Amino acid sequence: MGNFPTTLTTTPKPKPADDSLSFGKVLTDHMFVMEYAEGKGWHSPRIQPYQPFSMDPATTVLHYGQAIFDGLKAFRGEDGKIRLFRAGRHAERLNISAKKMCIPEMPVDIIRQSFDALVAVDADWVPRKAGTALYLRPTVIATDVMLGVHPAHNYIYFLILSPVGSYYKEGVKPVKILASDKHVRAVQGGLGEAKTAANYAASLSGQAEAEAQGYTQVLWLDGVHRKYIDEVGTMNIMVRIGDEVITPPLAGTILSGVTRASSLQLMRDWGLKVSERAITIDEVMQAGRDGTLKEMWGTGTAAVVSPVGTLGYKGEDILINGGVTGEVTQRLYDSIVGLQYGKSNDAHGWMSVVPV
Ligand SMILES: *Cc1c(COP(=O)(O)O)cnc(C)c1O
Repeated sequence: MGNFPTTLTTTPKPKPADDSLSFGKVLTDHMFVMEYAEGKGWHSPRIQPYQPFSMDPATTVLHYGQAIFDGLKAFRGEDGKIRLFRAGRHAERLNISAKKMCIPEMPVDIIRQSFDALVAVDADWVPRKAGTALYLRPTVIATDVMLGVHPAHNYIYFLILSPVGSYYKEGVKPVKILASDKHVRAVQGGLGEAKTAANYAASLSGQAEAEAQGYTQVLWLDGVHRKYIDEVGTMNIMVRIGDEVITPPLAGTILSGVTRASSLQLMRDWGLKVSERAITIDEVMQAGRDGTLKEMWGTGTAAVVSPVGTLGYKGEDILINGGVTGEVTQRLYDSIVGLQYGKSNDAHGWMSVVPV
């Protein structure tokens, strides 16, 4: 493991009770930082006390959004061990986002080691209550100081950690989503397949409108035809029509979700019929009307799976599976959570124990 220069805080923060945790509001005592300068490459990886950055108002990321991030979790098992879920894949995806955003790629082993090293330093911050976790947020920002649109010559990679509560405090709960034909998030040739700040900026007004109409999330349709389903909120989307599970292909507009890939693998292991293909909102609505739409769910690190109980489109609401969680959705949730807390056999080697 990387042995990074480490400066420990002299003023540790009080840790919140596991019961009081929500998402992303509390940050731990330390952070991992490294910088990039043209000609020098990525340099000076280190662990230091959590602290603000001081930034010139002309710093490029503040104006032009050249920024990427990722998100993964560390879980404390009943055996007391702390495990990361598919850390290598998250590290690689950060580099995929980097490439897309003209950010110099990072040595993937340093990224991977930064996860272990920082979680080890803040190991006491990994909450203990069932369903809780420590969320890792690796981020890269452009730090040139000048007003002018171009890929920057200087960057900061940083990793921060946040203890998070159980996404489902009262069991897995279906949500109500709205397919939007008015707002779009991404188009082919754009940024949809990168985890980059701009995509979340692009999602805000559509999300606000869905909430104003009483829905929890937006189901994004493709930006050109406004016809094919893309993603839901910040999750990948899956539907089960009859015995076929369908999810949109990785064709440039959606993020290559780690939970998506894991769910596809598990369902194939179980012998289910799984298709990665384009599917229109009309096909989904029709299946909802004729009763063949059995389940619909989102996949993502925050929730694992999020069942859809109601799908709204053009003024029509479709109730899915009586508004309760379907069997494949529940099985995926139980299987992935079982792995994350070290309770089930890790056949694919997705978990790694953090050396503390
Ligand atoms: C992060 C994210 C996902 C889910 O990816 P996971 O790797 O499963 O967490 C899906 N879509 C978008 C837009 C995302 O930002």
